[in-house]
Amino acid sequence: MSQKLQFQTLKIYPRPVTGRFNRWRVGFVAVTQLVFFLLPWLMWNGRPAVRFDFGTMRGYLFDLVLLPQDLIYLAGTLILSALGLFLWTTLAGRLWCGFSCPQTVYTQIMLWIEQVFEGPQRTRRLRDAGPWTPEKILRKTASQGAMAVFALWTGLTLVGYFSPMRPMVARLAEGMLGPWETGFALGYAAFTWLLAGHLREAVCKHMCPYARFQGVMYDRDTLHVTYDPTRGEPRGALRRSTPAAARPQGDCVDCGLCVQVCPAGIDIRQGLQYECINCGLCIDACDPVMDKTGRPRGLIRFSTQNALESGQPPLGWLQRPRALFYSGLMIVCSAVMGVGLYLHAPFKVDVLRDRAVFARENEAGEIENAYTLRIFNTRGEHRHYRVRLEGAPGVRLEGAGGFQVPADADGSFVVTVAAQPETLSSGSHPLRFVVEDAADPLRTVEAHAPFLMP
Ligand code: SF4
Ligand code: SF4
Repeated sequence: MSQKLQFQTLKIYPRPVTGRFNRWRVGFVAVTQLVFFLLPWLMWNGRPAVRFDFGTMRGYLFDLVLLPQDLIYLAGTLILSALGLFLWTTLAGRLWCGFSCPQTVYTQIMLWIEQVFEGPQRTRRLRDAGPWTPEKILRKTASQGAMAVFALWTGLTLVGYFSPMRPMVARLAEGMLGPWETGFALGYAAFTWLLAGHLREAVCKHMCPYARFQGVMYDRDTLHVTYDPTRGEPRGALRRSTPAAARPQGDCVDCGLCVQVCPAGIDIRQGLQYECINCGLCIDACDPVMDKTGRPRGLIRFSTQNALESGQPPLGWLQRPRALFYSGLMIVCSAVMGVGLYLHAPFKVDVLRDRAVFARENEAGEIENAYTLRIFNTRGEHRHYRVRLEGAPGVRLEGAGGFQVPADADGSFVVTVAAQPETLSSGSHPLRFVVEDAADPLRTVEAHAPFLMP
């Protein structure tokens, strides 16, 4: 009983609010979800535009096909994301949390669903505190059912990034979904339903590590949502009978709207708090109050500690050494990745020397080494490759002219390299296998292996 009461006390029922920050939030929810839900359906050159196939260990990003050797790009993307988060936090605090974090976005969607089936926040609060009636059971069932359907579709969409979406949905319709697809979809759906549908802001407050370490990236010039106490205090209800010039209190009329709309359930007038996700909804709530009371907007606004204390405008991006440092690192990292992707060849090559045979003499008296040449064709069409040797003079590759590899597949070819005994000294000689696409000879890929002369 006491646990139930505690849960009911802790549950937050944010009041809906309109305004520019809410419009931005809605916009971000719409854009991120459109991208997330539509991308697995998008086809590109006959295959899913974005797909990570663990079976063949390939990643498809439109024209780009990534193999395990390309994990460096994943590392680069993670580094860039981390730097972006550091830069963003340094500049504008938890803006990521307020506008684009999946937890915030899905919580917002679950709140909308709750509102549709259970009514406005005051009705929901009263009904939740009251006894279970047939209407309450019906509304709760409908609301939880809609959340579960949304969560299931979210789980299925996530799996659609790893298993082609269209055949998977066809299998689902026939009741033939595979065990791992079912397991992952249900698992992610359960997480979405629990974290966004029920735990909500508690995740941001108590589970998210970013909420804990973001403080080290803040400084006195970091933008965050602030209440201006020099303007607002002493707060007090506005008495219309008193002339504006004679009113003793500050601009805050203590209407409480900024607290009622806050999805984190905090009072921003108590100063900077780690629970604040910088969503700006309290600004949307307060600005119209200032309009009505004839005070300038911005009692609650995005500002910095230094700006609040000095009365000067906040420092810009280029005036912040830490922001410049992160920006510089991001530019360097992006440039390196951009050049790498530009030069990224649409095929990969591996060469393995046949270790079972040290070297052998052929009928012409030459010394031969055998190799397995493996070419990965990442294009969606059949390709023809040519190979030449570099590095050791006098060596000859047999059958260098034609290696055919089907679309999006890899081909293994056993090749021999021969050399007259007098052309090379005894020992190991480094060889470079230079492979070129016959239709695009400027694209070459090198692989290395030793040639052993007895
Ligand atoms: S919305 Fe503005 S006026 Fe109302 S309590 Fe909050 S800070 Fe004060
Ligand atoms: S205090 Fe304002 S900015 Fe911070 S979470 Fe609450 S509504 Fe959003």
